[in-house]
Amino acid sequence: MVAVTRDSPLRAVLGGKTATVLAEQLGISTVDDLLGHYPRRYTERGQLTDLAALRVGDEVTIVAEVRSVSQRRMRNKRGTLTDVVVGDGQRSLSLVFFNQPWRAKQLAVGVSGLFAGKIGIRGNQVQLTHPECEIFGATDHGLDPDSDPSASVDDRERAMTYASQLIPVYPASSGIQSWTIARCLRLVLDAVDAVEDPMPEAMRERRGLIGLAEAWRKIHQPESMVDVELARLRLKWDEALTVQVTLAQRRVAQAVNPAYPRAVREGGLLDAFDARLPFVLTAGQRIVGAEISHELGGHKPMNRLLQGEVGSGKTVVALRAMLQVIDAGAQAAFLAPTEVLAAQHLRTLRSLLGPLGIAGEFGAEEHATRVTLLTGSMSAKARRAALAEAAGGGAGIVVGTHALLEEVVQFADLGLVVIDEQHRFGVEQRDVLRAKSAAPPHVLVLTATPIPRTVAMTVYGDLETTILTEVPAGRAEVSTSVVPMREKPAWLDRAWARIVEDSRTGGRAFIVCPRIGDDGEFEKNPARGVDDGDESLQHLADDEQAQGDEGAAATKRAPMAVLDVADMLREGPLAGLRMAILHGRLPAEEKDTTMQAFARGDLDAMVTTTVIEVGVDVPEASVMAVLDADRFGVSQLHQLRGRIGRGSRPGTCLLITEAAPGTPARERLEAVAATRDGFELARVDLASRREGNILGAAQSGRRSGLRLLSLLNDEAIITESREEATYLIALDPDLIEHRALADQVARLSEDERADYLDKA
Ligand code: ADP
Ligand code: MG
Repeated sequence: MVAVTRDSPLRAVLGGKTATVLAEQLGISTVDDLLGHYPRRYTERGQLTDLAALRVGDEVTIVAEVRSVSQRRMRNKRGTLTDVVVGDGQRSLSLVFFNQPWRAKQLAVGVSGLFAGKIGIRGNQVQLTHPECEIFGATDHGLDPDSDPSASVDDRERAMTYASQLIPVYPASSGIQSWTIARCLRLVLDAVDAVEDPMPEAMRERRGLIGLAEAWRKIHQPESMVDVELARLRLKWDEALTVQVTLAQRRVAQAVNPAYPRAVREGGLLDAFDARLPFVLTAGQRIVGAEISHELGGHKPMNRLLQGEVGSGKTVVALRAMLQVIDAGAQAAFLAPTEVLAAQHLRTLRSLLGPLGIAGEFGAEEHATRVTLLTGSMSAKARRAALAEAAGGGAGIVVGTHALLEEVVQFADLGLVVIDEQHRFGVEQRDVLRAKSAAPPHVLVLTATPIPRTVAMTVYGDLETTILTEVPAGRAEVSTSVVPMREKPAWLDRAWARIVEDSRTGGRAFIVCPRIGDDGEFEKNPARGVDDGDESLQHLADDEQAQGDEGAAATKRAPMAVLDVADMLREGPLAGLRMAILHGRLPAEEKDTTMQAFARGDLDAMVTTTVIEVGVDVPEASVMAVLDADRFGVSQLHQLRGRIGRGSRPGTCLLITEAAPGTPARERLEAVAATRDGFELARVDLASRREGNILGAAQSGRRSGLRLLSLLNDEAIITESREEATYLIALDPDLIEHRALADQVARLSEDERADYLDKA
């Protein structure tokens, strides 16, 4: 027999049929995939599952004991109906079987075992119809006619499955039961040849971790919860170390090609700019500015993430960095996530620069440079001109969208790339920009989304991070309230009245909706409701369900749409106000015109989607009403709120929702209302998502590299593994001496790196 390794297909170990089911239903195809399919929890053989925690619609695997069995002929059809009632001592659950009279014998009163299926409801009774059953201590497998892949396993083996008190419960599917997965793992664990531990022994000892093979045994076949904890610790380390090694390699690779130093030049554009700046830089801006300035002057390419609350003055910091680079004879690219934002950055930079930004035009000052826009929707002529300014070096700053990444875009000498709102650009896109310069340009990433340290160290691990804490003085207060539409419908009227009132004194309002409303998508397929079935079953917590979006879909109606809401407001509560709509599907030019009209004060209110989420700067914007606010994430709401209160006018943010008090959705909104501390909210956000979702894996449907590691709770492991990885890679950058670790890193890069690093 061929040796079985981590990369062997499961077919080599299990039957072809089981392997196919695992691959098709759970995406598990190699030995490694199966070993990495960890139990979701463990149940104790003697301990019955709390039936109160079950919810209609859940796929469950429970431990229960048979309380009563009854059998009768069916009224309208031929055949028998067997009703087996199992219980946990308090509640009961009905197992219903049609035409399987032998079940009465198999499931006699007092028998206990595992039952798996989808929780349904009939009348007042919760039930499992035709559940899969696994009886404890059963040796007579002949009773079960299902062609279970485990049928080949002999009775002795079967009895051993439950020798331990702890029964692993795996994420299962309708086609394959938790206990079948446990049996497959038993086979795999016995078949895998001695694996080389990817973690160097010295590291393992230093950190007090068990070996990998032992960890696999202990997580899949624990004898106690202590085993489980030891195994989890080791396996979390593997996850953290793999990512950190990848990042350390990336950092080393980046440092190989030196950057061209762009040191400060006295008496140049930067000095001229500072001299005409209408305000004093905050202490934070000065400190961060000095740090960046120093790095720009060095040979090591800067890769810095600048985090700062909305309005903390990041743009000015970035502009000063760009000016230093221009003074050194090079150019800067300023990359924005959308055309609206690119256009706005262009205006902001031009107005900050004034006569320093219009070289070659009337009124330009000495040292002046030019700021050029390059986006996808420009006319061919404008585009040619912009390309020429970039390639010829006439433009000191080129502001643009993804269009800047295209191959035709060339720079005379690209010295600095500034990326606004990193989360829309990935590592690979940064690499494309880096490649546009002979020496790697310095990179400065700006983000207003506060990133907890642990996330910064993983998702943004190839960047050094700096935080701009102080917000310029004189910024107005923003008060946030939750407006519960169901409990307090009158508050909604007051919200609209507030907008009308504010507009009389020159205030402006954003009304934000979760969708545009021209796609018909939700009309055809209304949001999945949760109010089907027995109320009493729904409030019950279930640790197996993500808290995530459950509460958000508190209603079956479609989420509010820009187009409908705008009509409704025009005819109703906001009649008479000057209003426009803004969303991502409008032509770029129209979006820009609308934004400018709003900024000028030609509009009182704008009904919009999250296109205004980042960067839009209108000092007079004072009210924001977010409809169906529970549809948005915590960080997103915080971002949105950052659009108001940017001038001296105090802001009011209204989070309008139908989410009931006490639901996770409502609690998220209360959290946003309670604090303006972005870092605090980032933690709330992280906690409210299922782990791993932070990396975007859930959205893409692909699996995330993080199975056990929690970015929120495992800070120590992340920090320590980063130190270990840095040290290891400094000594052995290509992992020549650590082949097994190299293989593990390769495994991550192949199928998961995309989720992990590039979608940040
Ligand atoms: P961010 O990009 O971090 O959201 P901006 O750089 O857009 O913040 O700054 C927000 C506003 O504050 C802009 O109008 C900017 O000109 C102004 N600003 C920046 N720095 C200062 C400062 N030190 N003092 C006063 N106003 C400032
Ligand atoms: Mg900004």
